[in-house]
Amino acid sequence: MTTEPANIVDVTPAPMSRGDRLFLPAIFKGLGTTLRHTLGNMGRDGKNKKNIHVVKYPEERREHRDVLEGGSYAPTFRGVHRLNKDDQDRVKCVACFMCATACPANCIHIVADEAPWDDREKYPKQFDIDELRCIFCGMCEEACPVDAIELTPRYEIVGLTRNEMIFDKTKLLEIFDQTIDEKPM
Ligand code: SF4
Ligand code: SF4
Repeated sequence: MTTEPANIVDVTPAPMSRGDRLFLPAIFKGLGTTLRHTLGNMGRDGKNKKNIHVVKYPEERREHRDVLEGGSYAPTFRGVHRLNKDDQDRVKCVACFMCATACPANCIHIVADEAPWDDREKYPKQFDIDELRCIFCGMCEEACPVDAIELTPRYEIVGLTRNEMIFDKTKLLEIFDQTIDEKPM
């Protein structure tokens, strides 16, 4: 069977010129591009200046106000979880296991116990979320009947070991205290 000449694409590389073989022109061209972007990022190139949004992390952070001021941090971004407290400073969770059941990544582990309060039957004696397994889908907060679990706009989740990345009840309640005024849209 013969192939139509129009369907054949010749991919033989063009022979290199003497200048190409030296590689120096290409190297200087690349360095020139790097230098142009560096100067642009430093704000010395007025032509590109207005398109550059530089955040000097970690001294500067993209906070929620950046969104309000037209920054590139998505207002719907969802990061690290928190366990909410009620008006008596108690964990809101009633240990119903809805979030753990809905979680597609199987990263919520709850141990329920009899609640020490009269207004509910159970509370979470233990509540762990493996932040490394989490895919931040938000299904847990959707499933919760009492708004006890929420994802916050916090994106700095760091740890040196896998164990540090398993956030327990104490840590999740601490995040509530730190993010009480922050809520994703
Ligand atoms: S955000 Fe999604 S993956 Fe993460 S804990 Fe909630 S349900 Fe699971
Ligand atoms: S769905 Fe809400 S109340 Fe139920 S176990 Fe999860 S966090 Fe607690």
